Amino acid sequence: MDVDAATLISSNTPNTMSKGTAAWKGKNILIVEDVISNFQLLVAYLSPLGANIIHEPSGLPAIETMKTRNDINLILMDLRLPDIHGLEVTKKIRESGCDVPIIAQTAFAMYADRKNCIDAGCDDYIAKPIRRSDFLDIITKYF
Ligand SMILES: [Mg+2]
Repeated sequence: MDVDAATLISSNTPNTMSKGTAAWKGKNILIVEDVISNFQLLVAYLSPLGANIIHEPSGLPAIETMKTRNDINLILMDLRLPDIHGLEVTKKIRESGCDVPIIAQTAFAMYADRKNCIDAGCDDYIAKPIRRSDFLDIITKYF
């Protein structure tokens, strides 16, 4: 589903005009995340930069979205989803030939998890709780 990000964040959120802002403008970012507060945090980080956000709260619809849209620039993939595991979602997306960057987001910051993410086809990994500066540093690498 498409999300009007502006309705999800405070109207007085500062319009961050950092050096990298131009790189974000108009980018379509698919956020696969079932916990609404986690989703809203990412929206708060991203929408001041001008990114467009598409939200899927479970895995199977996310696979369908990636089959039907060719304008997604980046995917943020939660791992614990209500239907199937985020790494299974990632594998399905890769099996369809899609090479859009996928960043896994998980609560477990262990090396084995990172390896599992990369083996499944993710490009990178970020541990929750996600800090704004770490998040933007990682995402910017893929634009
Ligand atoms: Mg989850």
